[in-house]
Amino acid sequence: MEEGLRKLGYAGFRPGQQEAVQVLFEQGRLLLVAPTGGGKSLTYQLPATLLQGTTLVISPLIALMHDQVEALRQRGVAATFLASTLDNNEMRKRSSDIAEGRYSLVYVAPERLTFPGFRHLLRDLACPLVAVDEAHCISEWGHDFRPEYMQIGEVVQRLPKARVLACTATATPVVRDEILARLGLPATTPQLLRGFARPNLVLRAREVEGPSQARRLVDNLLYEALGGPGRAAGSAIVYASTRRKTEQEAERLKGQGFAAGSYHAGLPAQVRAEVQSQFSAGELEVVVATNAFGMGIDRSDVRAVAHLSPPASIEAYYQEVGRGGRDGEAAYGLLLASPNDMALRRRLMENRIDGRAPDPRVVEHKWQMFLELMRLVEGEECRHDAVLRYFGDEAEVLSGCGRCDVCTRKQPLDYLDGETTTLLVRKALSGVARVHGEMGLSAVVGLLQGKADARLERAQLTGLRTFGVLSGYSKAFLMRVLRRCITAGFVTFTGEEHPLVALTPDGVAVMRGQSPANIRIAKDTPATSSDESPATAAGPVAAVGLDAQSEAVFQALRAHRMEVARAQGVPPFMIASDRTLRDLAVLRPGNLEELKLAHGIGPAKVERYGAGFLEVVRNAAACA
Ligand code: ADP
Ligand code: ZN
Repeated sequence: MEEGLRKLGYAGFRPGQQEAVQVLFEQGRLLLVAPTGGGKSLTYQLPATLLQGTTLVISPLIALMHDQVEALRQRGVAATFLASTLDNNEMRKRSSDIAEGRYSLVYVAPERLTFPGFRHLLRDLACPLVAVDEAHCISEWGHDFRPEYMQIGEVVQRLPKARVLACTATATPVVRDEILARLGLPATTPQLLRGFARPNLVLRAREVEGPSQARRLVDNLLYEALGGPGRAAGSAIVYASTRRKTEQEAERLKGQGFAAGSYHAGLPAQVRAEVQSQFSAGELEVVVATNAFGMGIDRSDVRAVAHLSPPASIEAYYQEVGRGGRDGEAAYGLLLASPNDMALRRRLMENRIDGRAPDPRVVEHKWQMFLELMRLVEGEECRHDAVLRYFGDEAEVLSGCGRCDVCTRKQPLDYLDGETTTLLVRKALSGVARVHGEMGLSAVVGLLQGKADARLERAQLTGLRTFGVLSGYSKAFLMRVLRRCITAGFVTFTGEEHPLVALTPDGVAVMRGQSPANIRIAKDTPATSSDESPATAAGPVAAVGLDAQSEAVFQALRAHRMEVARAQGVPPFMIASDRTLRDLAVLRPGNLEELKLAHGIGPAKVERYGAGFLEVVRNAAACA
């Protein structure tokens, strides 16, 4: 193995690489999850040079294929690639060389798999290993879905003797299970996860009342991280959700003396290239950008990454904040969430694409991904650990990083007791029920506070018992309560044009007292946290993390979900989300009624899957 490694030009293994290759050799199957740049390709390149026959690598990134093949050739490894960029002659030549077994490694783009000629080639190929790069592209619900990836499972079936390796940089448990299911791999396939920890990042998240507070916090951050304008102490990225906001915020920061620029997909290519190169050259201290800014950021001294609004998911957040501190020195991440962000995000998800409304199941899936991020913001778990647990990277959890806003919070938050919370939440939900999906959050707050305005009067809501039922509480506090209700899945947004709110079936059950409101809400103490303190004034809902025993139950539930998904031919998340499984792992329900307390379990799910879940919980809890 050492010799093969040297042949590839490496002096030694990076952490985790040797283990990955060993597991692949011993068990013949492996799902490897590690960040981009983590050195995953060695896990198939090394076996390819050691094994007899031709290793097949399926990758959607043609430019990358080309580079890897060149690098391998220079090391004397017989490698080639097949992609639509080749002319017919070249394609024929390469194909016949492949048929003669001249290559140790062949990279193919996924669309190749559907070509009869290629299928024919495969039939007689001695293939010891199939590697699927960017394996998350097989997930129908992800951002990177590639329909051609659906063919890979069949190709794998046709090569029953081949080992199978799937690599990806982003995969939550539900996506990992989907990868295995679609590749036709057993639930017992080993999964290795590593390299997600970024302990030099100082992660902070907080809820803000509005734009002026957000601006103040961004300024504080830039002074803390860069020492102020013109100090040549590194750079910063500020992410905003719309093009217009990037421009406004860049102007504002220029006014503060920072060398700032804006970047978004609406700018001419030339302008974008210029901003990018000025940032690289250190001429710009701050770039305010949409998520279009990212690829090709080569500055390792990014000292701060701020999000003016939460991005689409924990994956997106971590990828963006991960652009900070590449040099290993401390870097700050500040994630801000304001009351309007949730409605805005929902609207972005429901936007028509090419004149067509998106599949509601896709919207729902995306919404759940977003709520995972919101729960992280509201949560009281160490930010670092919460992210790693979300990815399933238990090995790198620190039990408190010691530097995030939660770990450094001076005083624990003071929470309302359970009974008070339940009463408060039920009243708040009754306010939502009263607006009948025709008004937004601030109207509900007005209704609960008993502040009459023209709209409420016109809708004849001022005469109701609900009007003023929470009159003793501040607007900010009630807004927070309602946001907790949204993250908990009791309230959702409806309507295309306006961010209108309505109760979900779960919310109705809580309002009627049929289910508990198991969320936690910090007391309404005015201005408990000053703007200088990074602490959030927010109370959490159930934390993302699990204890060891619940983790064991969660894993058993995942394996079960995958079996059912395979048997029924549906994607795993249609059976239950990760969140539902986590809830079940914590609740450990003993009967069908208790099952309903878990998020996302309604009567239909109980009927279809309830008995199976209960049995798994019973068995797993007994073993754990
Ligand atoms: P990934 O596929 O996980 O995104 P790559 O396999 O492309 O990452 O590796 C990223 C970089 O790290 C490449 O330049 C590669 O040459 C280098 N690399 C990988 N393994 C080693 C190693 N053991 N020693 C030194 N460099 C390595
Ligand atoms: Zn921490």
